[in-house]
This record gives sequence, structure tokens and C-alpha cells, in this order.
Amino acid sequence: GDKRLRLPPWLKTEIPIGKNFAKLKEDLRSLKLHTVCEEARCPNIGECWGGGEDATATATIMLMGDTCTRGCRFCSVKTSKAPPALDPNEPVNTATAIAAWGLDYVVLTSVDRDDLLDQGSNHFAQTVKELKQRSPSLLVECLTPDFRGDKECIKIVAESGLDVFAHNIETVEDLTRLVRDPRAKYRQSLEVLRFAKEAQPNVVTKTSIMLGLGETQDQVRKTMEDLRGNNVDCLTLGQYMQPTKRHLKVQEYVTPEKFLEYEIEGKNMGFLYVASGPLVRSSYKAGEFFLKNIVE
Ligand code: SF4
Ligand code: SF4
Repeated sequence: GDKRLRLPPWLKTEIPIGKNFAKLKEDLRSLKLHTVCEEARCPNIGECWGGGEDATATATIMLMGDTCTRGCRFCSVKTSKAPPALDPNEPVNTATAIAAWGLDYVVLTSVDRDDLLDQGSNHFAQTVKELKQRSPSLLVECLTPDFRGDKECIKIVAESGLDVFAHNIETVEDLTRLVRDPRAKYRQSLEVLRFAKEAQPNVVTKTSIMLGLGETQDQVRKTMEDLRGNNVDCLTLGQYMQPTKRHLKVQEYVTPEKFLEYEIEGKNMGFLYVASGPLVRSSYKAGEFFLKNIVE
């Protein structure tokens, strides 16, 4: 039937707002930047933008438009075989705006662009270079597509000067076909992460798994081991939420206790950090985690 699980109490909590939040939000209007944080109405925006006591503000920017060549069953981004052409001024304009914004850590992400010869890899790299020129101390993470496993594309991004190379594995191996676009493959995503590290060993690699899609605890552990086996440094785990009725249903609301268990297991496996909790998203407080666990 169409019966949906009830929302558990831990997903209904108040969202804390940090002290930088209002200022960043105001600045954003004049900069004409489109953040995933606002567009996806991310519940973590207060924490990410506001920072904690030490105020490490993080935001996520979407490059290459709002139309994806793929159609994953958990994602509400619109799909087309032929999205509009890239804006050649986007790298410079985005970099200028972000540099003026006063962030500490930025996540650059994009839709998948299977229609482009280089799959958008040069666009990512150019944005990073423009950004680092203007703001050398700003920490930059690219959360990339799989580039269909193309080593050249991965290398272009890994060598662009970024600090963190992120690519999301999204789910366990056995659920990959159900959850992700058929062009996305579990093994291929592991390889993307491994190649990025091989191309540039100083770069931190990072991935994210959604829970609540019907995976077992053993399958999650196996995925975490596979990631460590491919030199992935950082991991985030969060609850999958169904974006619309047409998307995959939530099979389980994973308890905060279980998330904590994964966090401890992950640390024991050797991840530099594991951010794990019902509301955690792949870029959740990325700046704070990076500074606390990697720089020190
Ligand atoms: Fe933005 Fe990501 Fe933080 Fe959500 S989790 S507010 S999308 S940086
Ligand atoms: Fe959404 Fe990324 Fe899948 Fe495109 S490739 S549908 S943006 S999750």
C-alpha cells in the first residue's frame, strides 16, 4: 500500500542557528549565488552557515545548472538528456562571489553531465583555481559525479588545487541498482575515490552513505570496509528522506543510537572522521570536521 512510516521524534527537533547565519544570508542576496543549502531547504543550514563557537562556516554551491543527465530514485533534481550549455563565465563569477562572501569552507558540487566530452571536469577545476587565486586560505571541497570512471576527468579535478575530493557512494552494493541511476555503479564509485587519491595523495577523500533504504547493518559495515580498502579518508552517514511521492520510500528510520554505533565502528576502521546522525548530509559542518580532525 501507500502507507508511509511516521516521522520519529529525533527528526522533529528544533534547528539551532549560529551567530554568522544572518550575516551570510544577507550577503548572499547581493552575490547572486545559488546554494544547495537554501534550495534543498537543508535542515542544517543554521549550523553549517552559523558555525559553532569557533565559527567555521560551510556552504554548498551547485555548478553547471539545475538539470541532470541522470535520474537517481532518491533525488529530486530535474532530468534531461540535453541540459542547457555550460555558462563559460560561471567559474570566474562563482569564485569572485564566494571569495567575497566570507566562508571558511566551500563545497562545490554539480549535476551529472554525461552530455559533455569532459563531463564537466574542467569546469570544476577552473572554478577551484579561480577560487584559490582569490582566497588561498579558503578550504575547497569538490563533491563530484563519477565521471563514468574516466581517469583523465578525475585527475583534472584531483590536481586542481582542491583540499577535499568527495564522491558519494550513496548506498550499499546490493541496493545500488535500485537507488542510483543505472549508469552509476558501486565498484566504479570506489574506483573514482581510489583514483583521486592516487592522482594526488595530499588530497583528502570523502564519501557519504544514506541509511533507511532497506540496507542491513552488515551491508553497511561491508561498504565501510570497501571504502577504507580504497583509501577513503572521511565518511558521513545520514538518514534518507523521501523528497516526493514519486521517489523511493523510506524503509526505516535509523535510530540515533545506531548512527553512533557506525560512527564508533568507522573510527576504529581508520577513517579520519565519521559524521553520523539522522540529519547529517554529505557536507554537514564539513569545515568544522576538517579543521578538528585533519588540520590538527
Ligand atoms: Fe548546506 Fe550541506 Fe550544510 Fe546542508 S549540510 S546546510 S547543504 S553545507
Ligand atoms: Fe541527482 Fe546526482 Fe543522481 Fe543527478 S546524478 S539525479 S544530481 S543524485
